[in-house]
Amino acid sequence: MKAVVIEQAGGPEVLRYREVPMPDPGPGQVRVRLRAAGVNHRDIWLRLGRLGAVPSGIVPGSDGAGEVDALGPGVSGFELRQRVVINPGISCGHCPECLRGDQVACPVFHIYDGTYAEYAVVPAMNLVPMPTGLTFSEAASVGVPFVTAEEYLSRAGVAPGHTVLLWGATGGLGLATVQLAKLRGARVIAVTRDPDKGERLKQELRVDEVLVWDGTSDLSETVRAMTGGAGVDVAIDSLGSKTFVQSLAATRRGGVVVTVGSTTGGQVTLDLGQLFRRRLTVLGAYMGSTAVLPRLLSLFARGLLVPVIDHVYPLEQADQAHEQLERSDIFGKVVLEI
Ligand SMILES: [Zn+2]
Repeated sequence: MKAVVIEQAGGPEVLRYREVPMPDPGPGQVRVRLRAAGVNHRDIWLRLGRLGAVPSGIVPGSDGAGEVDALGPGVSGFELRQRVVINPGISCGHCPECLRGDQVACPVFHIYDGTYAEYAVVPAMNLVPMPTGLTFSEAASVGVPFVTAEEYLSRAGVAPGHTVLLWGATGGLGLATVQLAKLRGARVIAVTRDPDKGERLKQELRVDEVLVWDGTSDLSETVRAMTGGAGVDVAIDSLGSKTFVQSLAATRRGGVVVTVGSTTGGQVTLDLGQLFRRRLTVLGAYMGSTAVLPRLLSLFARGLLVPVIDHVYPLEQADQAHEQLERSDIFGKVVLEI
């Protein structure tokens, strides 16, 4: 079968489209004929070696959708050619954390890699039937961003009447956050560097207010002024070093600052008084629990959430897909068609 393989850490050019052995499903596993793979920032971190040494020959890609191709021993409940979505959070399935639905807390929890390929072998419990009305590309764009966003909005207690500040609003995670926060009845203040994308956020995604940011200035006073001087209830920060201190300053006393990435760097200097005097909660978020995905997919099936795809590339152009995501030149998801 064909797959995109990383042999060593490096730029997009280290992504090689080549022949690899066909994987066979073991006990409890299913082989999926993939039709689309969602591209996530995680795939870029993996390629750059930021998740640790790059295992030679690893196939990147956590999100995918396709058809059941072969069942391993002991697997039931799936039919051949059934359309499925891969749930990328891998956990043991039987520890106390898994049994109470908190798969992210499972001692062996990790995120799946391997969907930039014609076939992938995954645990049967990580497959969710694909809802009708979605294309494979759309279904492959849901997993990581929507599960992650739903998890932190839930943990932060976002509810009707809350105001949410969101940096990096036009990427896959950003647009997932916008939609799920609006569904929870929150007012969303979104930050983008592109005025045209800001207009689209308002027109197409019902974002309440947009701030166009030059990449350096401090927006915290502006945000506080937009909230009657109090600050937002929840700030969601995936940018890191350039914005995290602003996020703290823009959040109301007793509010929550979610850190879910560090695309501008991971080092910040904090005045701890900002945290304890103002009773702030800093909430670290990383993926989310497996049980969330079927419910999210049903919201897509009902039209309450919509997939937003910026560009679809053929699998062999994964390098170009990575280049586009690294330029942050996106409004929605970048997807590979297989
Ligand atoms: Zn477990």
